[in-house]
Amino acid sequence: MTAEIKKVAVIGAGVMGAGIAAHAANAGLPVVLLDIVPKPGPDGTVADRSAIAKGAVEKLLKTDPAPFMSKAAARLVTPGNIEDDLGLLADCDLIIEAVIERLDIKQALYAKLEGVRKPGSVVSSNTSTIPLAKLVEGLPESFARDFMITHFFNPPRYMRLLEIVAGAQTRSDAVAAVARFADVSLGKSVVLCKDRPGFIANRLGVYWLQAAAVYAGDMGLTVEEADAIIGKPMGIPKTGVFGLMDLVGLDLMPHVLGSMVGSLPANDPFQAIARPMPLVEKMIADGYTGRKGKGGFYRLNREKVKLKEAIDLSTGEYRPQAKPRIEAIDAAGRSLAKLFTHDSVHGRYARAVMGRTLAYAAALIGDATDDVEAIDEAMRLGYNWKEGPFELIDKIGIDAFVTMLEADGVAVAPILKTAAGKSFYRIEAGTRQVLTAAGSYRDIVRPDGVIMLADIKLKTQPLLKNGSAALWDIGDGVACFEFTSKMNSLDPDTMDLLRKSLRLVEKQMKAMVVYNEGSNFSVGANLGLALFACNIAAWPEIENLVAAGQDTYKALKYAKVPVVGAPAGMALGGGCEILLHCAAVQAHAETYTGLVEVGVGLVPGWGGCKEMLNRWATLGRMPKGPMPPVAKAFEIISTAQVSKSAAEAKELLFLRPTDGITMNRYRLLADAKARALALVADYAPPKPPEYVLPGPTGLTAMQMAVDSFAKLGKATPHDIVVSGALARVLSGGDTDFIKPIDENAVLELEREAFMSLVRHPGTLARVEHMLETGKPLRN
Ligand code: NAD
Repeated sequence: MTAEIKKVAVIGAGVMGAGIAAHAANAGLPVVLLDIVPKPGPDGTVADRSAIAKGAVEKLLKTDPAPFMSKAAARLVTPGNIEDDLGLLADCDLIIEAVIERLDIKQALYAKLEGVRKPGSVVSSNTSTIPLAKLVEGLPESFARDFMITHFFNPPRYMRLLEIVAGAQTRSDAVAAVARFADVSLGKSVVLCKDRPGFIANRLGVYWLQAAAVYAGDMGLTVEEADAIIGKPMGIPKTGVFGLMDLVGLDLMPHVLGSMVGSLPANDPFQAIARPMPLVEKMIADGYTGRKGKGGFYRLNREKVKLKEAIDLSTGEYRPQAKPRIEAIDAAGRSLAKLFTHDSVHGRYARAVMGRTLAYAAALIGDATDDVEAIDEAMRLGYNWKEGPFELIDKIGIDAFVTMLEADGVAVAPILKTAAGKSFYRIEAGTRQVLTAAGSYRDIVRPDGVIMLADIKLKTQPLLKNGSAALWDIGDGVACFEFTSKMNSLDPDTMDLLRKSLRLVEKQMKAMVVYNEGSNFSVGANLGLALFACNIAAWPEIENLVAAGQDTYKALKYAKVPVVGAPAGMALGGGCEILLHCAAVQAHAETYTGLVEVGVGLVPGWGGCKEMLNRWATLGRMPKGPMPPVAKAFEIISTAQVSKSAAEAKELLFLRPTDGITMNRYRLLADAKARALALVADYAPPKPPEYVLPGPTGLTAMQMAVDSFAKLGKATPHDIVVSGALARVLSGGDTDFIKPIDENAVLELEREAFMSLVRHPGTLARVEHMLETGKPLRN
């Protein structure tokens, strides 16, 4: 039996091994990270026998985007080498092998592991291309029983897909234990694959990239045209296909391609598109391996004042990048069927590439997996497609798709014939169902500990609803408040429904969570609306909005029932302030939160200043006196610091030390609901805090700090204005620190500062710039 996985080892501290080790540390587990002993230097000695693994940890700390969720996690990683430190593996529950892709090296390592690992421990390989059957060949049965493939995607922290392959001999309880660990602790979505070349995501993903590259060449398209077509119109990231190859590295392609060609049967559709591409070979030989090299299909030419260039697929020469206009995309709108039938080279290209890719996805049923949903999930999470191949086929219509394939002479896979006249997904009595390989439908059942609001929305009507938000009953007396506006921005309707929701929940229910399934929890107040109000000088309306937000968030904080915030993605400005007022927060590990108001020339006006002051005074473990917490809040808010993870949000006290973190996005709502229910018994709202603030002397200190920044050229003229207003709020205005003030007094200062700034032309310029470009203006 495999017990719960509490300690992990990763062998091989390269790109993948180091990233996997960091992510296991993110989950709070101790990790052993081993690599080889470096070759001796010119003097014949090795200065540090663990230098490779140690160097890998140092590199992790400098990598952007960060592999560690908090720098503190690095301390959980113990580096070592495979000659001296194999003993460290003795108490590891899971040993992940991520050494170079060579069968002989992997097998020699496995043989060594047999002597040191404990009974019941699991060994897994991160191989991309070597079949499991080959990896265990010649090894004892005891090893094969404990062995599986765990295929992570790069970068391991951010890519949510994990493919697991079990062998004929692998213990099923070991698979269950690793799958559960990957799901709950590492936050991965596990897709079980058969022991077939490239598993699922790369088999299909590499086919897709290869088809896109080959047909672009054949049909005379530019890389920009190809990326514009095989990109946004299909819900594929705007990097498209050539941009994606640049990102992952061109040098990986021939390797994976070669292994696929070598291991797939001669009649596999893969063989037909896997032609050698002389241009790509030349690019790799010249060091044009993509973003990590000198550039790829795209490059930034620094010789000529940073000129963005793209390669000409026919000549191999770089030329300035162009923005193509593609009529087929405009004409098709969101309809893939229209795009595929558009009478232009672009329509024909879309159809040649995506038609074949979707047909290949169908051909993988019964080969790489029997499960339609597994392929969709693999492409959504492994290649960031918004919708999986079968969801896309449903959009086109299965019958129309089959007719199209027949006309193009593309083989029609059995599942497409089984599905004739049907769709792959359907909703039956409020439950989403998927077609099985046998042709019947099965319910899509969520695992224990997973609740999706999307499922609840199919089955029930909201308790309350307006144009910006909705309130749902998620069972057991818990309600869920959902933002529904564009980018989940906050406006008067949000506030209105939040107040109504609190009244309803206090009367009829036990608790509430604030949660949604958008890619971002909330981007903060609706700036477009704010700008409109400024432009018509609707100052009283703006002040009302600020006051209404303050009152609403206060009502939330002092609600008779516990309210739990459950953010994922960005929670900025007003979105962060709502969390600051919740009784508790259960955050997804990838939560990026902060008070970013100064970026648009404002100060937090919905209680953000007052809550941060209170947090740093009560939880900040600060030196004595009124100034240290004020200085800390000032530092964080005046520089618009945003946490790069939930763990970092705790360090900044946007979250409390006691707040919870959920690694798996799918588990967030259930975890938040459980946390809310745990608070219900004996719940009492918090007592209003008192504030001991430094007053004018504190203000002067902060102003001096800003002045010195300005002298160093680090603060712009409007920064000085905004920081000054913020400093006045945080120092408590004209208060005297001997006399504590209450939170209403701080809220009044927030309002005053906000209203003075919102009329300032420098602030208006910042707001306009943000709305136009999405970036802060440094005026
Ligand atoms: P890499 O070259 O970056 O790292 C390999 C590491 O293994 C090196 O640090 C090397 O020193 C070490 N090593 C070699 N022999 C060793 C031994 N006997 N014992 C311990 N360490 C040894 O390679 P990578 O990209 O991290 O790939 C590692 C594995 O992960 C391969 O099997 C690869 O196919 C797979 N993989 C890679 C990616 C990717 O995107 N790079 C994605 C998924 C899976």
